[in-house]
Amino acid sequence: MAFINIPGQLESKAYLSRLIEEDRVPHALLFSGPEGNGKLAYALLFSIGLLCEVKEGIEFCEECNQCTKSTKFIHPDLHFTFPVCSKDGKKREDTTSTDFLQSWRKFLEHNPYGGMTQWVKFLGYENKNFNINVTECNQIIKSLSLRRYEGRYKIQIIWGAEHLAKEGNRLLKLIEEPTPNTLIILVTDRQDLLLNTILSRCQVFRAPPFMDEEVETFLEEKISSSQKVQEIVRLANGDLRMANELAGNQEEGWNDTLLQIFRFCFLGKVSEMIAQAEMLASLPKKDMESFCLYTLHFLKEYMRVVHLQSTESVRLSDAEKATTLKMTKVINIAMANQVAQLMESNIKNLHRNANKKILWTNTMFEIEGIFKAEKIAV
Ligand SMILES: [Zn+2]
Repeated sequence: MAFINIPGQLESKAYLSRLIEEDRVPHALLFSGPEGNGKLAYALLFSIGLLCEVKEGIEFCEECNQCTKSTKFIHPDLHFTFPVCSKDGKKREDTTSTDFLQSWRKFLEHNPYGGMTQWVKFLGYENKNFNINVTECNQIIKSLSLRRYEGRYKIQIIWGAEHLAKEGNRLLKLIEEPTPNTLIILVTDRQDLLLNTILSRCQVFRAPPFMDEEVETFLEEKISSSQKVQEIVRLANGDLRMANELAGNQEEGWNDTLLQIFRFCFLGKVSEMIAQAEMLASLPKKDMESFCLYTLHFLKEYMRVVHLQSTESVRLSDAEKATTLKMTKVINIAMANQVAQLMESNIKNLHRNANKKILWTNTMFEIEGIFKAEKIAV
């Protein structure tokens, strides 16, 4: 498989490689940073690099006996723990990561930059509570006390470590007095929610955010249209999780669709508004969500244009900038704000599986109403 390729960030890669090459691997490592950065991808590369028989550092050969297993996430010395929920009538207290391991492996292949929201969505259990329970912590303690099978290290990755809550205290002894060649890797985007007792015992690696050029490199392998790449780069704003999601969505950009909708609603052209609502309602849910996200991004930048009376330094394409200048004559900040709120509630309602046709038809008439009520002199 074409393995996880983190774009750019040479310094971070060199730093992690040196830990392995110079034999300075700590007992407990925390990979942290906001959603959409490379912390989980780094944790995977670090673990696989550590197990590889041929190469040193986070570069690995992908071919040795260890790599063939670890790159498929089936290495017997590479364990994963992550937040889960109840499943198939099994009691929650008996359910652990093991019950979701196959889905987890697919998730890692599909989106190693994903966060909790993507994981929950990926499983399709959007109304359930996710956490890491006592049974799971006891399992970790048990499995790490066993001998390693074949690797140089026994590695336990705990993703979403903020979901350990108080149960994390059970792991303290393990982190303080680890068995030799054992590594615990915690991954979190909420370092502030980790128990201090755990945090203070970990060496912290903060994965940096991605630069626009790095997001661009990442997208160029997935998308042929350079216009679409540029649009996603601006929307993602360094968040590779979002870039990956948007890349999987429709090929064309949303700019023209949004402008048409605004035009029809402004002019009160009912049959065209309904046609747009039907078009949106016919899309897969992820595309509808991507449209809402695009609209939110566009309006945020639009409000900046109105404030600054300039299109410099806003994250919009030249075509979008030209449009915003025309819009300032007819759409004020209050209107833009109300439409943004509408899109935010649309995202929530989509997650709650609202009726799509009703949702988008209402959206059109609400936008029309906002424009009508606030209409300013042209
Ligand atoms: Zn190898």
